[in-house]
Amino acid sequence: MTQKWFTEILHADLAQQLKIDELLFEGRTEFQDAKIFANAHLGKVLVLDNVVQTTLGDEFVYHEMMAHTPLFAHGSPKTALIIGGGDGGLLNEALKHPSIEQVTMVELDGGVVDISRAHMPEISDGAFDDPRTNLIIGDGAKFATETDQRFDVIMIDSTDPQGPGEVLFSKAFYADCKRCLNPGGILVTQNGVPFLQGQELVDSVTHFRSLFADGSAYMITVPTYAFGMMALGWASDDAGARTVDLATLEARYAAAGFETQYYTPEVHRAAFALPMYVKKLID
Ligand code: SAM
Repeated sequence: MTQKWFTEILHADLAQQLKIDELLFEGRTEFQDAKIFANAHLGKVLVLDNVVQTTLGDEFVYHEMMAHTPLFAHGSPKTALIIGGGDGGLLNEALKHPSIEQVTMVELDGGVVDISRAHMPEISDGAFDDPRTNLIIGDGAKFATETDQRFDVIMIDSTDPQGPGEVLFSKAFYADCKRCLNPGGILVTQNGVPFLQGQELVDSVTHFRSLFADGSAYMITVPTYAFGMMALGWASDDAGARTVDLATLEARYAAAGFETQYYTPEVHRAAFALPMYVKKLID
């Protein structure tokens, strides 16, 4: 029997392949082609428009570092906004913080939420049913322009800057996010693999620095975000938020009282130590 393989096509001249051991869903949502399949090594894999979004095997890296780094840096976050994040993994991590009173999640494509809940419920782990969850199905850019809500942390868990996700990498969108942040608020963004998508990071950090007192990035390694370390964008008008000391982070982490698989206060601090090729890109 010939083995079926999924080939990710995100870059012009590089691709990665994951074996499809069992196809769990394949179809088109209102906005995107979607696939969910099982892979012996990664567990279940969510693919949108032929790009790997998240896998049960390594989602903890990305979702923990996108959520806990700004939330622990802030120190007493009560409200958070997630733009995108249809699989619910980031929502699940944000809700682990005892100080969080509400997470508003604005996901363009209700179909992604539906298929994730149906075929990959392990990632959201009940987060969609948490009373503190305020799920809105709509365009995140439009929401950021119109909302009168204010947030302590905003996390842009978007697809890559193509199709519906493109608007979430614009200066106008980042300016709207700034408008929606409380004093001392922090914005973090999914900003690709700089080894291949360096210009995307340069553009975002340039926008951050034109809008906020502090703009930079921090690095994580997610095996299925292929071809190297991934950058998460960071912006805040509180320049000290990016350099919270280790003892403070350790105290906040201990007080929060939940387990992690990747995030630690030391990893938090180390993630902001940028490799020279990334420093040269953004400085
Ligand atoms: N963790 C993944 C990653 O790092 O690539 C992304 C997770 S999530 C699946 C990305 C989500 O962004 C998708 O569900 C997609 O529908 C959503 N999205 C894309 N453009 C959007 C927009 N303009 N407003 C809100 N959500 C959007």
